[in-house]
Amino acid sequence: MLDLWFTEKWSEDTRFSIKVKEHLYSEETPFQKIDFFTSNEYGRFFTLDGMIMITEKDEFIYHEMITHVPMCTNMNIKKVLVIGGGDGGTVRELTRYSTIEKIDMVEIDERVVRLSQKFLPFTADKLEDKRVTLYFQDGLKFVEECSSETYDLILVDSTDPISVGEGLFTTEFYKNCYRVLKEDGILVNQHESPYYERYSQEMKKAHNKIKNIFPIAKVYQFHQPTYASGHWLFGFASKKYNPTLDCKIEEWNKLDIRTRYYNTDIQMATFALPNYVKAQLEEK
Ligand code: SAM
Repeated sequence: MLDLWFTEKWSEDTRFSIKVKEHLYSEETPFQKIDFFTSNEYGRFFTLDGMIMITEKDEFIYHEMITHVPMCTNMNIKKVLVIGGGDGGTVRELTRYSTIEKIDMVEIDERVVRLSQKFLPFTADKLEDKRVTLYFQDGLKFVEECSSETYDLILVDSTDPISVGEGLFTTEFYKNCYRVLKEDGILVNQHESPYYERYSQEMKKAHNKIKNIFPIAKVYQFHQPTYASGHWLFGFASKKYNPTLDCKIEEWNKLDIRTRYYNTDIQMATFALPNYVKAQLEEK
């Protein structure tokens, strides 16, 4: 029997393939094509429009890094807005903090949530936490209509800036995030990658927009084996707190939150970037 492979195009001349055990499910929604697979190497994984979103084997890296870096920076975060994040992994990490009182998740495609609850219980199992409210609408419109100074933290767990994700990489969106954040608010966004040209262009564009809006605009890195090149970034934008100078290392460690990737040494190191990445971020 012929082997079945899932292949993602990382650049014109680079492909990444995972041998598939079973193609579990496929559905075309009004927003995108959703596919779920099982594999030996990465366990279950799902794709949107042919792009890997998360895999069972390495999702912990992404979801820990999007959450614990800002949470260690400001230990008083109570109200959080997650934009995108349909698989539930980011919300799962947030619910580990008893100090968080409210989590609003704005996901444009309800089918991603419902199918993740069916096929990916390991990421979606905390979406029913009593602090979580789900909104199925465009995140761009949500922040446009949201009152000022509402949230302590906004996590933009979005797809790439194509199709429905495009609006989440605009100046208009970042300006509304700034307005909707409290006076000591923090914005963390999925910030693409420095390695392949297509992703590097998007990273530079996003950073140039954000640094013109927020007084503190940094980028941090982590390795994510199933994203293009494995070298991935988050943007860290803040109205007040510096993530390495103001972070509460001892207080965070006292929470005794068990993680598999993040630790407070990484809090300090993740913002130390390679020279070629720093050079790209300084480009106009
Ligand atoms: N970790 C993944 C990554 O880095 O590519 C993304 C995880 S999550 C699956 C991305 C989610 O963003 C998708 O469920 C998609 O439907 C949602 N999304 C895309 N554009 C959106 C928008 N404008 N408003 C709200 N959600 C959006």
